Amino acid sequence: MYFERMQNSSFDAVLDQTLRFALDYLDGLEERPVGATVDLVELRRRLVKELNDEPMDAEAVVSDLVRDTAGGHLGSQGGRFFAWAIGGSVPAALAADWLTSTWDQNAAVYSCSPAAAVVEEVAGEWIKQVLHLPELASFALVSGCQMAHAVCLAAARHDLLARRGWDVEQQGLSGSPRITVFASNRHGSVERAVRLLGLGEANVIDMPLDVNEQLTPEVLESHFEGREGVPIILVLQAGDLNTGTFDRYQELIPIAKRHGAWVHVDGAFGLWVAASDKYRHLLAGFEAADSWATDGHKWLNVPYDCGYAFVANGDAHTAAMSHRAPYMVHDSEARDQMDWNPEWSRRARGFATYAALRQLGLQGVADLVDRCCRHAADLVAGLGELPGVEVLWKPVINQGLVRFLDPANSSDEAANDRFTDLMSKRLVAHGEAFFINTTWRGRRAMRVSVMNWQTNERDVARSIEAVRACLQVGVGC
Ligand SMILES: *Cc1c(COP(=O)(O)O)cnc(C)c1O
Repeated sequence: MYFERMQNSSFDAVLDQTLRFALDYLDGLEERPVGATVDLVELRRRLVKELNDEPMDAEAVVSDLVRDTAGGHLGSQGGRFFAWAIGGSVPAALAADWLTSTWDQNAAVYSCSPAAAVVEEVAGEWIKQVLHLPELASFALVSGCQMAHAVCLAAARHDLLARRGWDVEQQGLSGSPRITVFASNRHGSVERAVRLLGLGEANVIDMPLDVNEQLTPEVLESHFEGREGVPIILVLQAGDLNTGTFDRYQELIPIAKRHGAWVHVDGAFGLWVAASDKYRHLLAGFEAADSWATDGHKWLNVPYDCGYAFVANGDAHTAAMSHRAPYMVHDSEARDQMDWNPEWSRRARGFATYAALRQLGLQGVADLVDRCCRHAADLVAGLGELPGVEVLWKPVINQGLVRFLDPANSSDEAANDRFTDLMSKRLVAHGEAFFINTTWRGRRAMRVSVMNWQTNERDVARSIEAVRACLQVGVGC
């Protein structure tokens, strides 16, 4: 009986209905508040239900889901969302992502989904081209930059220890030479990858940055001193989360190489400036690194989950990942994703990347990068012209920082910290634009991060007006 009931729920009706829900959602981004309008209590009140005993119609399930989650989504698909490092989805990528679920392929190996394997192979090659990465680098499409770090650092671990006669895949880490990870300006995902790989957070060493937020060759040299022969991973930054700064690869990588270190670049969003003639110079020398991690779901505007790992030495990469099970069918001609990826069964995430790259083209990716950088610069400059707004960091690329001075007591930094946090709350309540705060150089600051293909001049103007309104207490806030 239940089976019959489920069969009555045709795909037709529920997918038709879902298309309308999706378009309503997307069309509404322009006018709806960008932040969430319902709180935790309300979301739980709506969503925590007794799990039904009897089956439900698919249409009812989906319409309940839309109704019960309404107001609990952040408008990050729209043009006035400037928090964290979050992109939207270009239309072809969103559509391809729908089809990915429709086809429901297991993109583990070629034999399990031939089309997914070939699309992924092409997508990986295209990204290398867009990002000006070495043609021969190997790649993996993973869930995000976090897992890209894990894959790249697993390859690093393999290579550094193999060079010392230690087979880490077989022997594990107990008793192995200790790997030291130097990472000055790192995202927390680096630590998590280090932890997952058993390298130990205590072996991650911080290095001081100069006034430009960059690691200097002198500092790097001094940290390598006395560590001759020790296996070292150096993690460099391509686009710091707060300031969008880049490391000095041309000077730093040769030093690391002289010490036999593995150089990994975290370019979760920053790597995409390689697509732009205007900004590519920021990455000069980065191609000499050993591995690179980036995201599709940030600046390329592919839906979540989508990250990319690249490794110059493909042998180290596949040695760390590959596994051959007797019941799996491997095709020696084709590329089996499992040789490069940490997952077994996995989403065919190559489709969305392939679609995004084709929709944008090389020029479109370059234009997306240039446009976001321009909007970030205009937004920060526009905010800086408002009374009581201090610009802490003018965007180098698409990231800037501003601070709000307490009108009653602007010489008191603690009061300015509090006022900056109050402004962020007012802005969320106002609903026109969405930002979040950070602590930078010991002070509270509001981050301005622009990486959505939809953001335009009007969004920038509307967002500046929203901040102006929130600076005047009680005016719509
Ligand atoms: C977002 C981000 C990460 C983590 O990437 P996920 O895709 O969230 O796993 C790592 N590094 C930087 C600089 C980031 O911005």
